[in-house]
Amino acid sequence: VNIDEKISSVKFFVDEEYPHLRIKDEKVCLKCNEKPCLNFCPAGVYRLTEEGSILISYQACLECGSCRIGCPFENIIWSYPRGGFGVNYKFG
Ligand code: SF4
Ligand code: SF4
Repeated sequence: VNIDEKISSVKFFVDEEYPHLRIKDEKVCLKCNEKPCLNFCPAGVYRLTEEGSILISYQACLECGSCRIGCPFENIIWSYPRGGFGVNYKFG
């Protein structure tokens, strides 16, 4: 099995009604100079807008949990997706 086949075995069940990721206060992000969320997320969920705020593509989240500890201002609300939603890892 090659790596592309492995990656394609990761499936997402996107919950369109309930984003499991949210920024608490966008004003805090504007003051956050380092913006480590742009780097610590392996899925590239956090992106910078031209206005300097953070855009979240929660649909791509791999549920690694890094953003719960990575944001220096604890400005990210993160919970596991509702039952039946989110990433689905197939092992083996
Ligand atoms: Fe906002 Fe936290 Fe990202 Fe800083 S690290 S830009 S406070 S989400
Ligand atoms: Fe990115 Fe991991 Fe946070 Fe999901 S849990 S947004 S993959 S850092």
